[in-house]
Amino acid sequence: MDSYHPSAKLRSEHADALVVHCSDHRLQGVLQEFLNNGLKLSGNYDVLAIPGGPQCLTLVEYLPKFSWASGKWFRFLIEKHDLKRLILIAHQDCGWYHELPFHLFGSTDPRTRQEDDLRRARRTLTSQFPQVRVDLFYVAWDADLRVVIEPVAG
Ligand SMILES: [Zn+2]
Repeated sequence: MDSYHPSAKLRSEHADALVVHCSDHRLQGVLQEFLNNGLKLSGNYDVLAIPGGPQCLTLVEYLPKFSWASGKWFRFLIEKHDLKRLILIAHQDCGWYHELPFHLFGSTDPRTRQEDDLRRARRTLTSQFPQVRVDLFYVAWDADLRVVIEPVAG
């Protein structure tokens, strides 16, 4: 391949938020649309895209080194970019959750487990970074692959 020259220029603004979501390829297009058009972030956000997304922060006992490394990435971005808003996103049929032992969870319902994890991650983050606002979302779809992204309450 020859050199590629994007039409877009490098951004010079400060990031407004940190978005943390799963690396699952199926979601990337709908998430970018949601973040840019739904939340009106206009591409002005840092991203952590890792398997299971923000669930990484809840693994203190099960995978402590993984949890520790995740915490370092969050701290680096929040402090380095002086971020005031975090957006944590979980999704239906997340392959990462298929790999986790069930005893880690208080519910057998997949969506409830993931929403509980989002709330746990928010508690962890707001205790460490009281200056940040943490918004939670869940991505679901129907049999025709029509997607809905809903805020997670609580
Ligand atoms: Zn996933």
